[in-house]
Formats: sequence, structure tokens, C-alpha cells
Amino acid sequence: MLQGLAIPTGAEIEALAAAAGCELAGVAGIGPVADFGRFAGWVERGYAGRMGYLTDHRAALRADVRELLPPARSVICVGKLYNGPEPYSTEFTDTERGWIARYAWGEDYHRVLRAALSELAGALERLCGPFEWKICVDTAPVLERSLARDAGLGWIGKNTCLINQARGSWFFLGELITSLPLLPNDRLAADRCGNCARCIEACPTAAIVGAPDGRYEIDSRLCISYLTIELRGQVDEELRGRMGRHVFGCDICQDVCPWNRGAAVTEAGVFAPGDFAPSLERLAGLSEDEFQAMFKPTPVERARYRGFLRNVAIAMGNSGSARMLEPLLKLTAHADAVVAEHASWAVRTLESYLDSALGRPQ
Ligand code: SF4
Ligand code: SF4
Repeated sequence: MLQGLAIPTGAEIEALAAAAGCELAGVAGIGPVADFGRFAGWVERGYAGRMGYLTDHRAALRADVRELLPPARSVICVGKLYNGPEPYSTEFTDTERGWIARYAWGEDYHRVLRAALSELAGALERLCGPFEWKICVDTAPVLERSLARDAGLGWIGKNTCLINQARGSWFFLGELITSLPLLPNDRLAADRCGNCARCIEACPTAAIVGAPDGRYEIDSRLCISYLTIELRGQVDEELRGRMGRHVFGCDICQDVCPWNRGAAVTEAGVFAPGDFAPSLERLAGLSEDEFQAMFKPTPVERARYRGFLRNVAIAMGNSGSARMLEPLLKLTAHADAVVAEHASWAVRTLESYLDSALGRPQ
């Protein structure tokens, strides 16, 4: 199949990936993934929360990409930049607006990255002849960040994100598992976190915790991204007051990272926001159809309508704005018991805040 045909070098793969719209690319070798033990320990410690897709029978598949493509001989890892020129959440002070995580502002990245990796596979087939391949973007049981680190794309920071020294951490990651015998990267990027602990100190819910091996991991059960996207039903009352105005995801541990100061900005218009910090009052009044129309093409849809309204209620409770009381009171009568209960909590929280801000006895 490949006889007589050239196997591309790392530089050629980078060029092909760049032509397909991926700013970072590298090759990871095949074999048991070194971080699998860490992942298994993280699951055992309960840090995956209720994310069954991480803990069920699919968990073991992450040990080796040959579980997904038995003839695999290499993994091309890519990074696609999504950062825009908009402010970071830590710089944004409008208390009547909710925050949507940066990655979720534009079109759903799964489709965009799949298209880029398909284009890359096609270009490689034209160069090397037919080979077997499989595209993975986020949802496949693959330890993406570990593979990307092995492929030389960056290091895994204390915030557990992959960080590229020159370009920062605002990347979607994807993989093209191939049967091609590509030469794997043999130079890991140095870990440049050093003594910095900004992300750990800035996390409002103390979700970045020490791991037994001295590195860091996320206790998802505390992480605002998990609470606003993955968790269905009630949010622990103790955590609600620390969630700020995040209605979908959280960027804080990336916003404060010094490697994201002056981070690269994408030219891909598909990730440009419609309204990256929508009015909380407007969000609270959305019908299910309006929610779908507003967020269907974006990752925000994953929170589902009722989960999203629950998040909006919490954000309004944390807004400190008296103007949020009226829309919140309407939400207390919502047909969904979880939304109504969170709205009642938010009314109590907001009234108590306003009383203390005005010096009224509570
Ligand atoms: S995403 Fe937010 S809540 Fe989660 S670890 Fe980072 S700063 Fe903490
Ligand atoms: S904020 Fe500091 S410790 Fe955290 S990931 Fe960035 S460099 Fe590393």
C-alpha cells in the first residue's frame, strides 16, 4: 500500500495541518499512554463526578489508541486556535450580563475540527496512498492532552490545560489516528509553570487540587465548567455563591495564566461570538424554542434549556443587581422544579446582598 510512496516528515505534516486550518500539529507514537494511570486514579478518586462516559466501559479504551484503531502506528495531534480579541472574563465587569466560556461562543468545534482533520487525511492519502485512519475530536475515549503533549504541542499546566509557549492555551485539540508509520516527536515541551500558582489561587471553587504524583488535577465536582454544563439537577447550595455569573463553562484558570497574556488570536470567523456576554434578563426570559434558536449551532446547547435556566438563575443571584429581582421572581414560578428552586435561592441571596449593601437590618 505504502511501498515506494514517501512518508511525510514532521515539518511536512505541520504544513499540511496548517493548510487544513490547524495552527499546531505533531506526531505521537503508539503504545500504552503514559498518563493512563493518572486518569484511572482520577476516576477512582471520584473526580469525574457524574460523567458516566468517562467512567464506564469506555474508560479502559483510553489506555491505548489501538483500542480504537487496531492497525494504528501513529497519532497526528492538532490544535486549532479559537481565541478572539474580546476581553477575558476576569476583565469583564458588567454585573447584569452572564459569561459564556470562550470556546463556546462560535460554531460547534466538533464539526469544524472534524472537517479540518478530514482534509488533512485526504491530503495525506494523496501523498502516501490509501491508509487506515480515524478522527477523534473530544468525544472519543482518548487522552487528548497527554497525546498532544507527547506530540510536542505544549505542556500540561497546573490548570490541566495544554499550554503552547508561543501561543497560549486557547486551542481545540483533535487527533488523526493513522496506520502510517510516521516518525513520532521525541522532544517534549518543557513545563513552564514553575512556581506560578495563579490558576490555583484564582479558581473560585478550589477545584484545582494536588494529585498523588505531585502534579495537579481537577475535581470536576467543584469545577464551574462541570456544574454549568455536565451536572443535571441541583447544584450544591454551598457552591452556588462561588459560581459568579458563569452561565456556561468557566475560563478563569486560563484567563489568569501568564502564558495567555497576548495569546494568539484566530482568524477563523466561525468562532467569532454573536453575543459573548448576553444580558441575564434576556436569558431568563428565553422560551425553549428561543434557547434552541440562539444556541443550537454552538456548544451551549449541551447544557440543555432547563440546565441553562438554572445557571442563569444562579448568575442573577450572584449579580448584586436589584434589576434582576423581577425576572428572578418570574422564574420562581417556572414549571421545572429545579429552575424554580434555584430562582428562589437566587432571590434570597440577592435580597440579602442588597440589604447588606444598603445597610438594612437582615
Ligand atoms: S474552569 Fe473555573 S472552576 Fe474549573 S478549575 Fe478552572 S477556574 Fe476553577
Ligand atoms: S497560571 Fe501559572 S501555574 Fe497555572 S497553568 Fe498558567 S503558568 Fe501554570
